[in-house]
Amino acid sequence: MFFNSNLKIFTSFLINNNYFLAGFGTKELGDGRKSENLISFFKKNNINFSKIIVPKQIHSTNVYFYQQATNPFLVEKIEDIDGLITKEKDVVLTVITADCVPIIFIEEKEKIIGISHQGWRGSIKRMSQKMIDKVIEAGGKIENLKILIGPSIGDCCYDVKEERYYQFKEEFDSYSEKIFRFFKGGWHLSLAKLNYLLLIDKGVKKENIDFFPFCTNCDKKRFFSYRRYKRKKNEEYGEMVSFVLRKF
Ligand SMILES: [Zn+2]
Repeated sequence: MFFNSNLKIFTSFLINNNYFLAGFGTKELGDGRKSENLISFFKKNNINFSKIIVPKQIHSTNVYFYQQATNPFLVEKIEDIDGLITKEKDVVLTVITADCVPIIFIEEKEKIIGISHQGWRGSIKRMSQKMIDKVIEAGGKIENLKILIGPSIGDCCYDVKEERYYQFKEEFDSYSEKIFRFFKGGWHLSLAKLNYLLLIDKGVKKENIDFFPFCTNCDKKRFFSYRRYKRKKNEEYGEMVSFVLRKF
């Protein structure tokens, strides 16, 4: 994962062909809850698109397969979903996050793209694995998938209550040593690592997954963080937008 200083987004060398554009926004892109910010980003950088799909996220594992427009406008909002998939070109799939984990899926051969949002609720319900099932249903293959795990809160800052710890331990006993760290009197969870392990378990090759190693709560300059907002006074709130687009 690296910062593309022209576009001012985080992206990955895994996506190294011209068919796709994928990225994770920072504060520089503005508050992701406002679609205008993403529209002006695409216009400013002369990137063609015909539609931006904006989910109304509800911490579910619902995935919407976008095939055709249901309105004539640039922005199409889809209710009650946390994942999007399409085979269409010029369609920008988005999610917004501020500590939760954004994940981008690109099936290079069949040219299927997807994006999902998962906080602890989506992660424990294995949203990232459901996304892969949907890519396969749409005609894709696991071996052709490139996956990017975007900026989220690190285990440095994501302490969870004991009850939550046991809930995860019950569901993911075999990886609980890898996803939890105990320090400062409490259990700390890495949602990014959990999702990484879920993808590996599903059969995605290690070399086809890229992930962002830093923490949204620690890096105030670049990222909005829900935790930071909740814990600190006078903290501005916003969300980062992540997107994926099939260009050809
Ligand atoms: Zn941190």
